[in-house]
Amino acid sequence: MPAFKDITGLRFGRLTALKVDDSLPHGRLVNKKIKWICECDCGNRKSVAASSLGRMTKSCGCYRSETSKLPRERICLGCGKKFKTRTTKIDYVVCSLSCRIKLGIKKKSQSECWPWVHLQDKDGYGEFWFSGKKYRAHRVAFAIEKGGIPHGKGVLHSCDNPPCCNPDHLYIGTVVENTADMDRRGRRVVLRGEDAGGSKLTESQVKIIKKSNLSARKLAARFGVKDQCIYKIRQGVNWTHVP
Ligand SMILES: [Zn+2]
Ligand SMILES: [Zn+2]
Ligand SMILES: [Zn+2]
Repeated sequence: MPAFKDITGLRFGRLTALKVDDSLPHGRLVNKKIKWICECDCGNRKSVAASSLGRMTKSCGCYRSETSKLPRERICLGCGKKFKTRTTKIDYVVCSLSCRIKLGIKKKSQSECWPWVHLQDKDGYGEFWFSGKKYRAHRVAFAIEKGGIPHGKGVLHSCDNPPCCNPDHLYIGTVVENTADMDRRGRRVVLRGEDAGGSKLTESQVKIIKKSNLSARKLAARFGVKDQCIYKIRQGVNWTHVP
């Protein structure tokens, strides 16, 4: 058991020990448990365990918050170059938007679809966060390769595959064109499926329902919908776009 050491007035980094923090139950009994009330150069007071003074704890916390705001040199996972960033909370350390999307796209041959392999939204479109903003992967893939997206226009898929980020499969269009496109391919959703307001089922649940041999009543209970809802799916009235 290490003996009690009086460190009154001693400095540890930015901290100066003032007195033992005797509000603690262990008081002075065991050195390791002793806490000292310290004053930081910034004026804050903090109770610090004697054993961590000068080792782990060198300030009231102000030092860490100052240094974490300084730009730090990191290596980009996309291009391998060094860059400086202030951000500490990033899922992927990347220098730019184009390096970020490189990490999520699984490139294949020029004619094939290049799926987004990271996070997808409920419709299957790739999405990711960069510098505190949320982006849609296929839009960024298009913009980087082919230039900006005119205001009010959307980036549409000629392959009809939402996660695809192959710029060759993407084109600029309006939402109306997109609807026409989907009509041609028979994938249009008119007040059906998850897009219909009030729909309680998801596409994956509907797939389960369509494959299941359970009674409509059991399925309805399982997914928390009315029996009618299951009948309509089975009779091909609703959710016809789901295989
Ligand atoms: Zn401080
Ligand atoms: Zn980079
Ligand atoms: Zn595609």
